[in-house]
Amino acid sequence: MPINTYMKTAGFLVALTLCGCAATSSSQVSRSQSMGVSGIAPHAARSELEAGNKRFLDGGMEAHAWQQSSVIKTGTYGQSPSVGILSCADSRVPVELIFDQGVGDLFVVRVAGNIETTEGNGTFEYGLKALGMHTIVVLGHTKCGAVEATIKGKPLPSNMASLAAAIQPGLKGVLKAPTDTASFELVTTCCEANVRHQMQKLRTDSALLRDAEKAGELTILGAMYDVDTGHVRFMD
Ligand SMILES: [Zn+2]
Repeated sequence: MPINTYMKTAGFLVALTLCGCAATSSSQVSRSQSMGVSGIAPHAARSELEAGNKRFLDGGMEAHAWQQSSVIKTGTYGQSPSVGILSCADSRVPVELIFDQGVGDLFVVRVAGNIETTEGNGTFEYGLKALGMHTIVVLGHTKCGAVEATIKGKPLPSNMASLAAAIQPGLKGVLKAPTDTASFELVTTCCEANVRHQMQKLRTDSALLRDAEKAGELTILGAMYDVDTGHVRFMD
């Protein structure tokens, strides 16, 4: 964890202790001390998200009751999310739910096809430099309609065309030709290729993010969410 994040976290916790804002249930204390508002170590980001997804799958979610203490903490002292997520807008991929995270935990950009945009890129730059975010997860999902439409290759109306234009370059290595009858496996392969393409776009379109990754201050991960099972699989 970068020193500035440690310092921010330490000061944040001291302030919480002094004002008594940290008082909450034992499970909330346990989770918030290792996640989100109190900071998560960079090396633990993937394992903490995997653990949250397991709680989601097991029906043992901790983050989705009324989170008064987290609301008070973040409202009073501001946010310090450790993990950014670039996700599709698909309603079957509710990011905080599937990772069992709550108020102040995740810095989320959502757009159809989980595509990298200038605005989303700038959002993550802000998260990195101003909030202490140290990890970005590009989260694709199975049966993504934006990717399926791109595979078909037919012109899309209005601004929707820009979605396919942003996805199509990432499919060149896995899609030989447009098709209306793509198998589940081909669509999934294309969704994964899109994740890798958008991960690379984050790097190529932002010197700030690219340099932070090279310096070891930022980790960019790819993951796939299965809309049929609720399972998240990290890639690589
Ligand atoms: Zn999608």
